Amino acid sequence: MTKKQLQDCKKRLYEEKSKILERYLAKEETQQRLEEESKEPRDWEDIGQMTYTEELLDNLSHIEINTLKEIDIALKKLENGTYGVCENCGSEINIERLKAIPWTRYCATCAEEIERESGTYMPSYGFEPMLTEDIEIEREDLGEA
Ligand SMILES: [Zn+2]
Repeated sequence: MTKKQLQDCKKRLYEEKSKILERYLAKEETQQRLEEESKEPRDWEDIGQMTYTEELLDNLSHIEINTLKEIDIALKKLENGTYGVCENCGSEINIERLKAIPWTRYCATCAEEIERESGTYMPSYGFEPMLTEDIEIEREDLGEA
C-alpha cells in the first residue's frame, strides 16, 4: 500500500468517526469543527481522538458503538504499521475493499468465510458484532480531549 493510500484510509476513518460523533455533539460545535477540518486536514485528528463518555455511549446504537471501536482499532493499526493486513490469514487486504470499509479486519475471502460460519457477521460493516461491555470507557471530559 502506498503512503497516499494509507493517508486516504486514515482520513476516511476520521471522517466516519466524526460522522457518528456529530450525532450527539452540539450542532454548532460540530459545524464549526467540520468547517475547520475542511480547511485544515489535520483537524480531523482532533475529533477523531475524542474519548467516549458514558453519556455518548448511551446516545449511540450498538452498531455505531461497534463501528467506533473498529475504527479505533484500525487507527491503532495505522500507527503500528499493521493496517491493511487480514487478521485471519495474514495477507494484504485489497485496497478497493479498504476504500469501501476502511476499518475491516479481514480480506474478502476470510470475511465471507466468517459470515458463513457465524451467521451473525455483518458484511456492510466488515466486522463481527461485539457486545458494548467490551468497550473500554475512558472517563475524560470531552472538552479536555
Ligand atoms: Zn484473509
